[in-house]
Amino acid sequence: MLIAGNWKMFKGAHEARQFATTIRHLPERMAGVDVVVCPPWTSLEATIAGLGKSAVRVYAQNVHWELEGPFTGEASAPMLLELGVTGALVGHSERRQYFGETDETVRLRAESALEAGLAVIACVGETADERQAGEMQQVLERQVSVLPRHERLVIAYEPVWAIGTGLTATPDLAQEAHSFVRSLHDAPVLYGGSVKPENAAGLLAQPDVDGALVGGASLDALDFEAICQAAAQAA
Ligand code: PEP
Repeated sequence: MLIAGNWKMFKGAHEARQFATTIRHLPERMAGVDVVVCPPWTSLEATIAGLGKSAVRVYAQNVHWELEGPFTGEASAPMLLELGVTGALVGHSERRQYFGETDETVRLRAESALEAGLAVIACVGETADERQAGEMQQVLERQVSVLPRHERLVIAYEPVWAIGTGLTATPDLAQEAHSFVRSLHDAPVLYGGSVKPENAAGLLAQPDVDGALVGGASLDALDFEAICQAAAQAA
């Protein structure tokens, strides 16, 4: 089981460092659970410092495909590795919705990050309109088909209508989508979309749910710990 916390644009360096010291012992108490946090760029170093020798891993929320160059606002895999960052999210729906991320740029980001030695969590998922139009499978097929096959690649199924909305897919809906993603790719599949301590156990108990990508609830140490505990029970 993998539980990854996406802090989005929350927790500046000072707060991130303090929070990291609070959660650094989590993996010792959670057998069978890998714990990842994804701070904003400016808090990566502080989080790593706060975690010390902890087994909690730090991923970036994005990564560029070139090693360096005139790409304002971006950071490359070698730059992240130099800090001690060991992975990156790619293709989060907020990147796709607000920053023009496409399946092609997601592919480029994932491929070069993996090649450079990072782990990758690639996010896929349909919008409410796409689901209503009966296009869920078509969308997932399009988004998953560009992802490389690699032992360090993990897919996060995040229905866009469930992200930050409090609307969670039921465990059955999640299972149905996960088993479809599994039919397309052999990577582990995390569920994301309003995962909270109250619904985590039901989602993580599904046979094709290999963990969770947690946004809002990962910002609170007790909530995040409760979700990790649910994962340990399901592991
Ligand atoms: C996310 O940011 O990937 C996410 C799933 O957010 P939330 O848990 O807040 O819905």
